[in-house]
Amino acid sequence: MEGQARSLETRIRKVQQEIAALGELRPGNLSRQYNVCGNPNCRCKATPPKKHGPYYQISFTWHGRSRTQFVRKEDLPEVRKQLRNYKRLRELVDTWIGLGMELSRLKIERNRHRKAQPELRLSEENGS
Ligand SMILES: [Zn+2]
Repeated sequence: MEGQARSLETRIRKVQQEIAALGELRPGNLSRQYNVCGNPNCRCKATPPKKHGPYYQISFTWHGRSRTQFVRKEDLPEVRKQLRNYKRLRELVDTWIGLGMELSRLKIERNRHRKAQPELRLSEENGS
């Protein structure tokens, strides 16, 4: 059980290190859109229509509020990277939580054995 706990602790430390090394981040989903305008003679009303765009926007929910922000084409690479980092953070946090639950369960189990069998532990120590 000790080895198991140590390996869990090692994995948690690696997750923490990767989180600490993450760069800029932001939540959201990027989408591409094409629009039509109000001009009846515009190319976006032709057959077939040649709509305006593409326009890029990020949709995200933060503190319960859903929002949308437009993103300029030149900002796309940076924003894409931030979105990737955010997804990675969520994965890492999820991994950390899973490992943390497992570690906690191991430790609680270990403590219970220690309290439940004090004589057994003593005799094992004396015998060695
Ligand atoms: Zn148009």
